[in-house]
Amino acid sequence: MRKKIVAGNWKMNKNLSETEVLLSELKTKLGDTKNAKIIVAPTFTNLYKATQELKQSGITVAAQNMHQAENGAFTGEISADMLKNIEVDTVILGHSERRAYFGETDALLADKVNTALKHDMTIIFCFGEELQDRKSDNHFAVVESQLKNGLFHIKADNWKNVILAYEPVWAIGTGETASPDQAQEMHAFIRATVAKTFNQSIADEVSILYGGSVKPNNAEEIFAKPDVDGGLIGGAALDADSFEAIAKAI
Ligand code: PEP
Repeated sequence: MRKKIVAGNWKMNKNLSETEVLLSELKTKLGDTKNAKIIVAPTFTNLYKATQELKQSGITVAAQNMHQAENGAFTGEISADMLKNIEVDTVILGHSERRAYFGETDALLADKVNTALKHDMTIIFCFGEELQDRKSDNHFAVVESQLKNGLFHIKADNWKNVILAYEPVWAIGTGETASPDQAQEMHAFIRATVAKTFNQSIADEVSILYGGSVKPNNAEEIFAKPDVDGGLIGGAALDADSFEAIAKAI
């Protein structure tokens, strides 16, 4: 049975003291959650603190990004080995903000995917169409091409290390959410695309998260859809009560 997952992407928010407060609240509220895997992704400077603080809990720590090279002259970047060395073995790749503001292309993401897999990391692979793609009825084609060009080069047994996160760009941080039916329609398409390209059992096993303005008041109806296996949460993950409410809606 595929896993239910609720992941919080804290982006460039929370300094060390604020991180300590949120980690401690989340540990109390969600530390022994059994029905879903809970993941938090603080900023790089606070990852080590997070792994230490959450060690005895069931909450997993993820990085928000990493570089594709093993090491070297890449000022400002962080490697897979650096993450693994502080017990972070999950990484978000392909977030729309990385694609839009930092020029991350499908080809670059394919390299990052390879590096993450080489280090046996779990990848939360993000993708999703922009508003004009949906308006021009191109959203399925865009999603399929992001998957094909950034991820589908992996081998069948790499899929145990992959979590998919469908995040329509027009719904991220905008307060606008895909309707539960729109989310279900796309998630079913994604699963069918994985089945067609790989096989049905991989498609049945992979968790597909929805991301885009998930809040306590809409989480339950989105999570109730059969192909939605949880959420990647931005803004609402920065507050312990709202993240708890979302996690409990699964
Ligand atoms: C995100 O950035 O992954 C996200 C889903 O953000 P928000 O929940 O704020 O829309």
